[in-house]
Amino acid sequence: MTGRTLLTNGLVLSCDGDPGEKSARADVLIEGDRIVKVAQGGLDADPASTRVVDLHGATVLPGLGDAHTHISWPLDFVFDHAAIAATPPERHILDVAGVTKTFLESGYTLIIGAGVTQPFDDLLARDAIERGLITGPRIVPSGSMVAAVDGLGGDGEMMEVAGDAKGLREIVARQCDSGVRSLKLFISGDGVVPEFPSEDVYMNDEMLGAAVEEADRHGAFITVHARGSASVAMAARTGVRIIHHACFLDDEALTALEARRDDVWVCPGLHYLYAMVSGHARPWGITDEKIEASGYHREFASQVDGLRRLKAAGIRILSGGDFGHQWTHHGTYAAELQRYVELADMTPVEAIHTATRNMGPAAGLDTGEVREGMLADLVVVEGDPTEDVTVLQRHDLRRAVLKGGRFAYVNPEVYP
Ligand SMILES: [Zn+2]
Repeated sequence: MTGRTLLTNGLVLSCDGDPGEKSARADVLIEGDRIVKVAQGGLDADPASTRVVDLHGATVLPGLGDAHTHISWPLDFVFDHAAIAATPPERHILDVAGVTKTFLESGYTLIIGAGVTQPFDDLLARDAIERGLITGPRIVPSGSMVAAVDGLGGDGEMMEVAGDAKGLREIVARQCDSGVRSLKLFISGDGVVPEFPSEDVYMNDEMLGAAVEEADRHGAFITVHARGSASVAMAARTGVRIIHHACFLDDEALTALEARRDDVWVCPGLHYLYAMVSGHARPWGITDEKIEASGYHREFASQVDGLRRLKAAGIRILSGGDFGHQWTHHGTYAAELQRYVELADMTPVEAIHTATRNMGPAAGLDTGEVREGMLADLVVVEGDPTEDVTVLQRHDLRRAVLKGGRFAYVNPEVYP
């Protein structure tokens, strides 16, 4: 065996950018960790040198990605951040391994860290996955979240705290030196914590500019928690790569985003808000009164409206968002795509793009399309995700997941 694999007798959804793409009959030849050929007419391969895998009509699409991931939140997480932080590390890291396994088995081959609860969770998991000790997706690692002294998280209990541009630059440099590549800064409040409303803005242009510059020097990038429009505008004009939430968008924020259309991405976390305002968190103590007080109803409506405006303006949207609560359980990550279709006027293919072709470039990786030269990170599903995007949530329809050209997960229900 020379490391060549031919996926034959399947349908391919290439995610080439056409929002009306339909899956089409094609064979995919993989050599080493990359796709070397996608042939519509089918390919002949010498079985002596190539492993031929008959897909029996299943669909191959790029492996999915999640751009706002907390692998620190265990499978039974119930908003108890302090308890997670206090769990003995040797026990906690096994919980983390359970989460990375769940991502991979859910068809997710790439995650971008959005902050960890124990400082080295992403880095340790990434290294263990690369060494083959545990299974999981590719990880763009994050470190501890970073707050402003006067902002949400500024008490320093769960986050690092910066008082000025110099202090922030030092934190960024230190995290980058440890291997972190996706830094997470809190530059707005969050309605769920009433003392820190979503419209609040923390840090300033000088601080963010310094953070972006320092991260860039290390080949890393800055991501921000930014719910209100003023924080989004600041992030856009200072060079932040991924803006999380972006709920309230005014013209200033939209204009600033448009000016950076080629190197900024917005990751809304729509399903999380949807679940919160739909009462899904009620059994875990997030009462209707608490949701009412958070302003999340208004925020949700505004985010739906904002997503339509972002789409119309050609700003790339990334799928992802705080999965891991009991009401947005690990393993249900592709529910985000369903919300885009139901609420944000996307076709199923456009929704899939937020987890594939938009994701690779945001992470700086050759992933997210099924075409020659790309990394062979793929998911094989039954059913037609271009007609019904919810098939991507169905564990019984997921046949296999490939990462770097190798079968990283094979559904034991499908292949005994
Ligand atoms: Zn988060």
